[in-house]
Amino acid sequence: MSGVVGNWRVELIEAHRDLFQPPADFPGAAQGSPECGAGWRDLIDRCCVRIREVLETEGGTFQFTQIKEKYASIRMYWTGRLSPEASARVEKAIDLAEARSACTCDVCGEEGRLRGDAWLATRCEAHAEGLPPVERRPGFENVYMVRHFADGRHFITCRRYDRQNDVFVDVDPTSLGIEE
Ligand SMILES: [Zn+2]
Repeated sequence: MSGVVGNWRVELIEAHRDLFQPPADFPGAAQGSPECGAGWRDLIDRCCVRIREVLETEGGTFQFTQIKEKYASIRMYWTGRLSPEASARVEKAIDLAEARSACTCDVCGEEGRLRGDAWLATRCEAHAEGLPPVERRPGFENVYMVRHFADGRHFITCRRYDRQNDVFVDVDPTSLGIEE
């Protein structure tokens, strides 16, 4: 990790110029320059690699318009012209980054958890700065509900983010006591 504060953003943008399209002489001024802690650099980088794979196979145009922290996890906004398939793959890469940010310390990049009261942050033990852990319902750690609408009705699927393998794993909603 860079020892110079602020440089990690420039390095990340330089490594993925095609996704950030920064001004030639001032990469730090890219619209999508990350507004978050350095601990999330790696998960943004992983997301960029995935998006570039999509663009290489599917074509299309893409540019980050904003990357920021909100409610202690990352939000990534983009503009571009992509096929529906490519767009879905890009959104999946962004969902993975968001899920990873929710369990990754934004200071150091180690595993973290949601902490705070007046303000929220995802932090490891070492960077907790006195912020108390936010208690989660047991069994719901890293679980995300996905709402779908098909065949004239709404339904819910559940998935758990597996941090070690950086993938989503489907979870049976009824195992969590959720009625469809
Ligand atoms: Zn940390």
